[in-house]
Amino acid sequence: MKLVARYTQIADDFAVADQPSAVIAPNLLLWNDTLAKQLDLEVATSERAVIFSGNLNNSDVAAVALGYSGHQFGHFSPRLGDGRAHLLGAVTDQQQQLWDIQLKGSGATPFSRGGDGRCAIGPAVREYIMSEAMHGLGISTTRCLAVVASGETVYRQPPQQGAIVTRVASSHIRVGSFQYLAAQGDVTGLKALVDLAIERHYPEIKSTDSVRYLAFLSAVIEKQVTLIVSWMRVGFIHGVMNTDNTLVSGETIDYGPCAMMNQFDFDTVFSSIDRQGRYTFGNQPNIANWNCARLAESLIPLISDDEEQAVELLSPLINGFAEQFHQAFTQMWAKKLGFDGHQDGDAELVSELLTLLKTHQLDYTNTFDSLTESLLGQVAIPSDLTDWSINWLARTNTQSYQLMREANPRMIPRNHIVESIIQEYESTGESSMLDEYLTALKSPYQLLASPAFWYSPPVDGDTNYQTFCGT
Ligand code: AMP
Ligand code: MG
Repeated sequence: MKLVARYTQIADDFAVADQPSAVIAPNLLLWNDTLAKQLDLEVATSERAVIFSGNLNNSDVAAVALGYSGHQFGHFSPRLGDGRAHLLGAVTDQQQQLWDIQLKGSGATPFSRGGDGRCAIGPAVREYIMSEAMHGLGISTTRCLAVVASGETVYRQPPQQGAIVTRVASSHIRVGSFQYLAAQGDVTGLKALVDLAIERHYPEIKSTDSVRYLAFLSAVIEKQVTLIVSWMRVGFIHGVMNTDNTLVSGETIDYGPCAMMNQFDFDTVFSSIDRQGRYTFGNQPNIANWNCARLAESLIPLISDDEEQAVELLSPLINGFAEQFHQAFTQMWAKKLGFDGHQDGDAELVSELLTLLKTHQLDYTNTFDSLTESLLGQVAIPSDLTDWSINWLARTNTQSYQLMREANPRMIPRNHIVESIIQEYESTGESSMLDEYLTALKSPYQLLASPAFWYSPPVDGDTNYQTFCGT
């Protein structure tokens, strides 16, 4: 594994040299061979547990912990940073694309703020399953290369086995990374970080001066719009959309309290700490917009010495988010219902359907799946939608099935199934079901010969289901 360091030149205190803390008995639980091949990684089977637990014991790897700030539930913390993660460096795949390799749960760092720097086995397995599921659904996301049990206990409520998860991302540049440098008044660092982000994610931006920074913000906004639309297409609720959990690459990151919606309702929220409903299913676009505004604020000193003038240039981009989102969201519903192009009355069909879904507490995934298959005469239209479907069917054509099949998954990582696998790991350190489950999640738009209950919503509709930040 050839690693390069990409963050050390940004600023002092941005990428702080720090080695993972060795663990007692590393044991490889999960290995993502498909991803390893894609990254062109060759790591001998016998070395995997050692390397990806952080038991490196050599000076070849110049690991760092990255500093970042973050607005958490709207409140600004200037110094968060990788409190339990070590970035080993970046690898280059055959297309010359760089991928960060980061260990999470690899011990305390200068950013730990009293935390133990560790991760429990449950959240590690959860991140692996959920990020693979998102990838299978065609949604931009960080990936997991490995999960290694540490052989140590982490003291949570109740105590659990520890694990280290290896996260792969096209970068770890967060909105909070810019906030961190901006909070320190480090204009040189900010410039360097924009340059790095452009080099890694937006090489098409060639402009200089203030136009460069505006083009960067535009590109990030576009990626966030695409990301949130794709989340909402499949019923994903991130749960903790803080600015430190927002990557400028537009990849989904941080699977701590995420969940999938069963019954359709924009107000759905599962996170135990989200008491105000800030990160509900339907509020995700507003929060992404808000997070982009925080990025814009961080870029002010790069745009102009005159703050008012800078704000004047940045504001139209932020104010344009809502309209950009609206357009992409409209297109999403059109595909989910098999409309090609736009016709008068489409918006009404969508809003009538959503009202019916909510009123009759229908399952989001299975309803759209049934509507899709009803076009082939395979499945009946749900009875609560019979009247509505008359106008909908009149609007469909020969293209509709294909459009709908691509937009509507048959299988999502249902909360109760994921939870049952996690519980198996917590109690026995393994699962009899996970391999087959991960295989099914690679083809979520097809009906496989998988157990039928994987496709069914939980009997109780997840009424008492709660998620927690993965600490
Ligand atoms: P997260 O909820 O994972 O986004 O984490 C928010 C912040 O808390 C980040 O700065 C993490 O590095 C830090 N953090 C979370 N868990 C721990 C832990 N067990 N030890 C040290 N820092 C942690
Ligand atoms: Mg985080």
